[in-house]
This record gives sequence, C-alpha cells and structure tokens, in this order.
Amino acid sequence: MVEQKKVIPFKDDAGISYELTQRLLKRGRPNGLSAVFPISTQQIIVADWVHLKCRYGCNKYNTNWTCPPATPSSEKVKSILGEYSMALLLVGSKNCTDFYMNNGRKRVSQVRCWKGTISIERMLFLEGYYKAFSLVGECCALCKECAYPEDCRFPQEKRPSVESFGIDVIGTLKKLGLTTRVATSNHQDYNYFAIILLE
Ligand code: SF4
Repeated sequence: MVEQKKVIPFKDDAGISYELTQRLLKRGRPNGLSAVFPISTQQIIVADWVHLKCRYGCNKYNTNWTCPPATPSSEKVKSILGEYSMALLLVGSKNCTDFYMNNGRKRVSQVRCWKGTISIERMLFLEGYYKAFSLVGECCALCKECAYPEDCRFPQEKRPSVESFGIDVIGTLKKLGLTTRVATSNHQDYNYFAIILLE
C-alpha cells in the first residue's frame, strides 16, 4: 500500500511546504486519507487509452456529470494541465466489500472520499492556492442517481473524476517511484487516488 513514508521533493519556488501537507493529511485522515505527495504536473501521465476503459466496460459512461463524455476531451485536459505547474496526489486506503454493488454502503464510502477531497481543495484555496481544483477518485455518488443530463443537484461539489481526465494513475505512480497493487478480492484493502491541481 502507498503510505506517507516520505514527501517527494518538489523543486519549484511555488512549491508547497511540508508543514501544510501535514495539516492537509490531518484534515483528510478521518476520510481515509493516508498520504499526500506534492508532484509536478509534468509527472502526470495522460493517455488516450484511459478513455477506452471509460467508454467500453464501465457502466457509468454517459450517466454521470463527473465521467465522460460530460468531462473535458483529451486535448482540453492537456491544455488545462499546462496551466498548472504542480499538483497534490492524495492517496487513501479503504476496504469496501460492496465495491461492485450499487448500494448505500458503497455510496457512503464514495461520498466520504469525495467530500474529503473537496474539503482539502477548499483548505488550499483559503491558504492562497486560488487555482486549486480537484480531480476525484471514482465518480460522484452524492445523489442516489446522478441527474445527468439534467442539471446537477450539487454543482458546487461537482468535479471530474481522475479517470475522466484520461490520467494513467498506475503509470503516474510508477513514474513517481511509488507502487500499489490491484486488489484481487473485494475483501482486500485498496488504495484510491485523487489529484488537486495547484499553482
Ligand atoms: S451531485 Fe448528483 S447530479 Fe451532480 S454530479 Fe453528483 S451525482 Fe450527479
């Protein structure tokens, strides 16, 4: 599992302090957050094949505001990432035996991670990182059924998922020198990932 053994050095004058990452971690721990890594946006791998996984094989495709095709295209994503120099990779761990279900327990688990990420984005905004913007793990489950394509019921909480941005999470982790493993049973703990873009 990925843990906060070290903070990857971030060589940029606009970097984020170790002290702040620890405060963010403290804020996120009740929501399952286990590590915060400052990274450069140049270390984030975006690949077109990720959208194949959304378009073919995921039942959320075209059903949720936080998933494709409602989210930005690959070209737009690359352009957006170019407007940010740094990001925080948030890593959490959880165990959800209902991972493949669409029930209340599964939603509670998703909402907890979702709100945890948005609250950290808010904290960063108040710290002066005015461009802070979250890409959240999995899709939004704030509503039992997403209103898509009708108007979102909680637009202030709406953010794209990491996957919808075409981000190759495993490839990015490898590039950062981090490792994770795919859970092979729904009784195993697994990591989830969110990214907050910063300047
Ligand atoms: S808040 Fe509700 S309507 Fe909006 S994206 Fe989330 S699930 Fe969909």
